[in-house]
Amino acid sequence: MKREVIISSEHATCDVPSAFKALFRGQGDVLRSHRGYDPHSIDMATALATRLNCKLFQGSVSRLLVELNRSLGHKALFSEFSRSLSEMHKTKLLNDYYFPYRDAIEREIRARVQKRRTVLHLSVHTFTPILDGKPRIADVGLLFDPSREQEAVLMRTWQRVISKQLPELRTRRNYPYHGRSDGLTTALRLKFPDANYLGIEIEVRNSLSPSSATWRALADVFVRLANEFCGSNG
Ligand SMILES: [Zn+2]
Repeated sequence: MKREVIISSEHATCDVPSAFKALFRGQGDVLRSHRGYDPHSIDMATALATRLNCKLFQGSVSRLLVELNRSLGHKALFSEFSRSLSEMHKTKLLNDYYFPYRDAIEREIRARVQKRRTVLHLSVHTFTPILDGKPRIADVGLLFDPSREQEAVLMRTWQRVISKQLPELRTRRNYPYHGRSDGLTTALRLKFPDANYLGIEIEVRNSLSPSSATWRALADVFVRLANEFCGSNG
């Protein structure tokens, strides 16, 4: 089965369309912090997509407006800033930003699966090194569903290779979040079988600068690992 990669970046930006800017008046600092988006995640997503020559999907609004990485009905779908919007405005946000983004990714995967291809979906995120005063004990997280054998086997390999190539980075599996928690890849796993879809969230500590040698070396390793996956016949 032919294997292909697609990349997504749900938390690419902290942009808020002008119609909704009033919700965030005086809250620019929050919006531009890790709460508003994943700093540097779009840099990694773009670097990987460019070098892997694969399709990149990127969110166009702050997660504090509508959270593209949560299911409908999840309490964090809307934030404390957007929760009080009228149903009409919430529906508009979903129709303008949420559904187009998630549906486009699902359509892309479906089209490839129908051609009997296996899709490795890398959903690229970053995390804050300290959350609620507690330091996170990792630099790179690989999030997957342990009950999906392809994902589990591949991430064991990726963790081993990244740790060997970049021993200065602490690389962990299903940390700082669990791959089965609510999210885009979790939702997509319900729609595509293990054999055709691997939904992996890559999490990188957001204090790792894209201009650093370590960040670039990490991108190199991800590119090599993704190419190896596509090159090996399943
Ligand atoms: Zn994120």
